[in-house]
Amino acid sequence: MIRNKERHFLSKSTFLRGYICKKSLWLSKHRRDLIAPTPAGQQFIFDQGHEVGKLAQKLFPGGVDASPATHFDYQPSIEITKKLIAEGRQVIYEAAFQHNGVLAALDILVKKEDGWYAYEVKSSTKVHDINVTDAALQYWVMKNCGVEAKDICIVHINNEYERVGEIEPEKLFETESVLYLVIALQDEISESVKVLKQVAVNETCPTVLIDKQCTDPYTCDFKKHCWESVPDESILDFGMYRKEERFRLYHSGIKRIADVTPWKDLKVPYNYIVEAHINKGIYVDDVQLKNFMKTIIYPVYFMDFETVRFAVPKFNNSYPYEQIPNQYSVHVLNNENEEPVHRSYLADPGKDFRLEFIETLLDDLGSTGTILAYNVSFEKSCLKMMAFLFPQYEVRINAVIDRLVDLALPFQKKWYYDSRFSCSYSIKDVLPVIAPDLSYKNLAVNNGDDASVLFMKMMQEPNKDWSAERKNLIEYCGLDTWAMVRIFRHLNTIV
Ligand code: SF4
Repeated sequence: MIRNKERHFLSKSTFLRGYICKKSLWLSKHRRDLIAPTPAGQQFIFDQGHEVGKLAQKLFPGGVDASPATHFDYQPSIEITKKLIAEGRQVIYEAAFQHNGVLAALDILVKKEDGWYAYEVKSSTKVHDINVTDAALQYWVMKNCGVEAKDICIVHINNEYERVGEIEPEKLFETESVLYLVIALQDEISESVKVLKQVAVNETCPTVLIDKQCTDPYTCDFKKHCWESVPDESILDFGMYRKEERFRLYHSGIKRIADVTPWKDLKVPYNYIVEAHINKGIYVDDVQLKNFMKTIIYPVYFMDFETVRFAVPKFNNSYPYEQIPNQYSVHVLNNENEEPVHRSYLADPGKDFRLEFIETLLDDLGSTGTILAYNVSFEKSCLKMMAFLFPQYEVRINAVIDRLVDLALPFQKKWYYDSRFSCSYSIKDVLPVIAPDLSYKNLAVNNGDDASVLFMKMMQEPNKDWSAERKNLIEYCGLDTWAMVRIFRHLNTIV
């Protein structure tokens, strides 16, 4: 086979990287050592993306795959695509094109009576702006290679699809044309290609200030590097201002919350927050905090769920990306003077565990007393989903929902605020301040994403010996509710 000798400067992903931030493109070409490792949760999303891509091919069966043997060398794919087009193939998967040093591989290319149709598959549940830019570059490269698409569409997940029996790809996916948006972007794409090719080969890194592009539409994998001089208790955390304003203040030299001035006239509680940062102290709204604590009735249940979510629903009567609880921890405090009792559940990854989960949970939660959860809306939505799925337990589940109280509320509303929270009310930020002896750092599983990914992997290979991992998951979820006990006791001592 004749090899295309022209190596590409930009792929679709490096173009998009540069389109979002030129510095990110330059760093990805010259300082790959600064890229942060991909978190397990993110990697699993990528892996799910491959599964979604394969499933979407079933919408256009009988295609020929032009994928390269290795993703480090796409040149053979370009030649295979040319050959398949010349042979008159109707459906080509992973069709690759290259123009002017830009390589773009399309998920599905289909020849109909009136011409070529292009389909990009995304595992999101709607079309995002960045998907349109992605499609616009694809269209630009293809058109310049002599394949002008009659239409270009994004195939994405339909989040209203309910699985009943085998997966039905024609119901799981929705197809949305972005042709007019893509055509409107063609001049901009052409100009951006010129600029970004130059950026990629420049010897020096472009100057780009940190801003919204560092986390939107994705968290940049150079964030740790670019943000290393952002101080603790930074103005970028100060929730009173919109993001744009926070970055404006930061770049004007107001880098910390304590630097905000004049602060006395700011609205409550932000004036007290700034004061707490200036004094490195604590702010307490006595009245609100006391009223909140009065609503809590013994026995107090501290409850936390872990969940899994799949782009392609795994169980009957479940939906794409539905949060399915697979694990819980409950600490029960019968009165102020006793030590709490611990109860927990971790599902068997080899079966549909939803009914067992809710039956065990209902038994563990008794019938009286407050149930505290941290960010209660999450647990509430899981319980509502269970009530819908198992109507025989609807009354008991609704009774549980009526007993729920959100332990995050005093922190979210700033009725209790310590400057070391740095405007966050996440339990991961609150706990180290209130109970510094408790730490997630030494645990093998130390965050919800990792716990979720680990269990989803266990579901993929349920017969493997997972006993060590099961112990780690139980330990992690148990620490979440033990942390809540400590936070509750701390607030009790305050009031
Ligand atoms: S962290 Fe922000 S400024 Fe740095 S490369 Fe990424 S997007 Fe650009």
